[in-house]
Amino acid sequence: MNAVIPIHTDIGCADAPVLRERGQREVFCGLTGIIWLHRKIQDAFFLVVGSRTCAHLIQSAAGVMIFAEPRFATAIIDERDLAGLADANTELDRVVTRLLERRPDIKLLFLVGSCPSEVIKLDLSRAAQRLSSQFLPHVRVLNYSGSGIETTFTQGEDACLAALVPELPTAGASAAPDLLVVGTLADVVEDQFQRLFDAMGVGTVRFFPPRQANAMPAIGPNTHMLLAQPFLADTARALEARGVTRLSAPFPLGVEGTTAWLWAAAQALGVPAARFEQVTAAPRERAQAALGRLRPQLAGKSVFFFPDSQLELPLARFLAREMGMRLTEVGTPYLHRQHMAPELAWLPAGTRLSEGQDVDRQLDRCRAEQPDLVVCGLGLANPLEAEGLTTKWAIELVFTPIQGFDQAADLAELFCRPLLRRLRLAA
Ligand code: SF4
Repeated sequence: MNAVIPIHTDIGCADAPVLRERGQREVFCGLTGIIWLHRKIQDAFFLVVGSRTCAHLIQSAAGVMIFAEPRFATAIIDERDLAGLADANTELDRVVTRLLERRPDIKLLFLVGSCPSEVIKLDLSRAAQRLSSQFLPHVRVLNYSGSGIETTFTQGEDACLAALVPELPTAGASAAPDLLVVGTLADVVEDQFQRLFDAMGVGTVRFFPPRQANAMPAIGPNTHMLLAQPFLADTARALEARGVTRLSAPFPLGVEGTTAWLWAAAQALGVPAARFEQVTAAPRERAQAALGRLRPQLAGKSVFFFPDSQLELPLARFLAREMGMRLTEVGTPYLHRQHMAPELAWLPAGTRLSEGQDVDRQLDRCRAEQPDLVVCGLGLANPLEAEGLTTKWAIELVFTPIQGFDQAADLAELFCRPLLRRLRLAA
């Protein structure tokens, strides 16, 4: 085997103790996922069944996006619905019918549940079945919950993809082995990975979610899934229940992570090590050179992660191993030990890990550390900046293309920028 191919012999934090906290939390809800999901599945529509607060959240999270034909909206549950004076199902059917008559381009409609729809116990799965039977074959109607109760914002994508799994066609036992890349990636990143897989001769590679609702990938006992995002526990479970095999790998962040991630697929699909090396050498070296130029800005600096996006462990691993940063605390909303095993093994031994949140206690620990950089949610960033700490918004790391060799330097730059801004302010 060639030396560049990562060999998982590290122990790192594999058996490290984890501080578990269950207190007040500062996170966005799963509705936020609509922002990147609606860009990915181009003929899908996300109808939030919620309150004005929910409508406000997705509109402000989406920024100033004025489309002639937007692909998300909110069906507002008002006081009459909450008081049980109106039949919410009749109202919902009316809204959906009007929407689908006006928008023949919609092929897949998600009814997205929220805290208010859960409070009034509106059964969106029955509503989805009822509306599907009315609008199929032209439009499929599915549902999932984006509710903020006891969740974090990336779980919206997990819930959405898990709702799609039963819709995937079945590939028989005689189908050739194939690869399913699971998790929303920017189109540009997907295209880069597709080119690398093609050059390796991996065979059939499909991405889930697909760009078009009618291009759902078939899955079966010969399908291997490679998670592209670390927050897809329910989706992975649903795919495994349909016979798909999960490949264990770090996530494709940074040069090391991307190499190991690609190698997991190459190994499972019989790509020879020499071919793998030939295909990945040039982009890997380019990325390493680009990271080398940025490393002096980050090396030796300390970083503290508040739990937010569930990307914390792979990001921390990248910053520590490839950029030389010092990890003070790595917090994550949930720690999926199985999916995170390769990441835990690559974290420096002795890293303080925390799962869940008790925000006041965590703020105290952060203040005591006085890290050079804090990665946190929007709600904590401004107060911490006001206290003189330098922050990076975690949500930006989900919205920005950061996976793969060609994006490794962009990823590092996202952490360099706040440090540079602080330097300029201090000058
Ligand atoms: S789903 Fe719940 S947490 Fe999210 S915006 Fe609506 S009310 Fe707020």
